Amino acid sequence: MAKQYETVIGLEVHVELATKTKIFCGCSTAFGGAPNTHTCPVCTGMPGTLPVLNKKVLEYAVAVGLATNCTVTRYGKFDRKNYFYPDNPQNYQISQLYLPICRDGSVEIETEAGKKQVGIHEIHMEEDAGKLIHDEWEDCSLVDYNRSGVPLIEIVSEPDMRNAEEVIAYLEKLRMLIQYLGASDCKLQEGSMRADVNLSVREAGAAEFGTRTEMKNLNSFRAIARAIEGERERQIELIESGQKVVQETRRWDDGKGESYAMRSKEDAQDYRYFPDPDLAPIVISDEWLAEIKAAQPEFRTEKMARYKKEYGIPDYDIEIITGSKHMADLFEETVRLCGEPKKVSNWLMVETLRLLKERGMDPEDICFSPENLAKLIRLVDGKSINGTVAKEVFEIMFEKDIDPEKYVEEKGLETVSDEGALRRAVEEVIAANPKSVEDYRNGKGKAIGFLVGQTMKAMKGKADPGMVNRLLKEML
Ligand code: ADP
Ligand code: MG
Ligand code: ZN
Repeated sequence: MAKQYETVIGLEVHVELATKTKIFCGCSTAFGGAPNTHTCPVCTGMPGTLPVLNKKVLEYAVAVGLATNCTVTRYGKFDRKNYFYPDNPQNYQISQLYLPICRDGSVEIETEAGKKQVGIHEIHMEEDAGKLIHDEWEDCSLVDYNRSGVPLIEIVSEPDMRNAEEVIAYLEKLRMLIQYLGASDCKLQEGSMRADVNLSVREAGAAEFGTRTEMKNLNSFRAIARAIEGERERQIELIESGQKVVQETRRWDDGKGESYAMRSKEDAQDYRYFPDPDLAPIVISDEWLAEIKAAQPEFRTEKMARYKKEYGIPDYDIEIITGSKHMADLFEETVRLCGEPKKVSNWLMVETLRLLKERGMDPEDICFSPENLAKLIRLVDGKSINGTVAKEVFEIMFEKDIDPEKYVEEKGLETVSDEGALRRAVEEVIAANPKSVEDYRNGKGKAIGFLVGQTMKAMKGKADPGMVNRLLKEML
């Protein structure tokens, strides 16, 4: 009988924090920017410079720890992880080994199989490295230090996951908590969230874990799922053929659908870690911890329950809207302004989702303001514009966040409510379409649809279709 194998997975997740400035200097953390323009002597590792911890980094790290049920280390330190690489100008990275800021947490995930806790071993703070740019300028490599010193937290899970579905549920849960905290935008594609997957297999029922490998370079959920499947198979094949899995770091090539060895796994002792003598120890007071606790937002689960009670919109809408903190904020503020939860939800669920999909955008990228959406809803409610015009205006608003009231006025899009003008248009349509008129009079009720359409066209779309319908019926 073929042997059964169990997959064991633990994740190391790096998250770039949303601070305006770097972790140990005042340089900007903005993404992009001409190479080496967001730099100073500190983040380029000049001798004689001194790092100073950005307090906001500590605050975000603690906030993430609280949201993931960790114990916060009240007296912490930074350590130097020593290694040479051209993107690391100090020849060491400032990180935390001995006293990470948070420990022993957990998050609850939900999959088809039900709910489950995934343990968090620790969360530590560290600085990001620069970026090497290959093949852009003749046959040499260049280095850009803009990213050097951007603050990161690394969230290390326990080896509690057993398949790709759990891994993705775990990552989505972390992303949601962190986005709700505003601590990062967590975009895998842009690298503000990066996951390294540690994976081993063992015979079902075995007491000990097997030897693990670590896979890097995974920048989408799809790549993660494929890498897990590929690596599980590779390890099982090795074991079945009597070979051993080697503990190493592997690079996943999503295009080829296979991984290859990058380097043998290094141990902590290889890095000659020691406490960084340039930074003072971190002490977190009771007052500050209480403040950070008090500032924790309403997270998704609670928000979903409240929406159900407070707004009476469908569960599906709640699921989508709360799936993005930005969309949830937009929804709540628009409802506060116009008092129409169902209508606001409709604009988000239909037109907004359609445009996001069409343009391959994230809900986080929505740029229109709650004020403008509320105005648009009022324009429709007050019958100043009809549904078709509203959709056209919305599309412009989605792109440029225009003020719909001003736009409608400038472009003369207001519904013509002058009954005289409308009557004249209807008369002309009746005169020009004797065939449809006859059909209607002979009992073909559907013919009126065509006549309404013709009248709307004559009015350049700026009529109330209900009113046109009524007038047509009257005059026929
Ligand atoms: P290191 O310090 O060598 O990087 P850690 O013990 O910190 O190793 O573990 C790193 C990650 O690997 C953690 O997320 C952990 O859950 C995971 N891990 C550890 N052992 C295994 C294993 N046998 N199989 C799968 N994952 C593992
Ligand atoms: Mg590690
Ligand atoms: Zn700097």
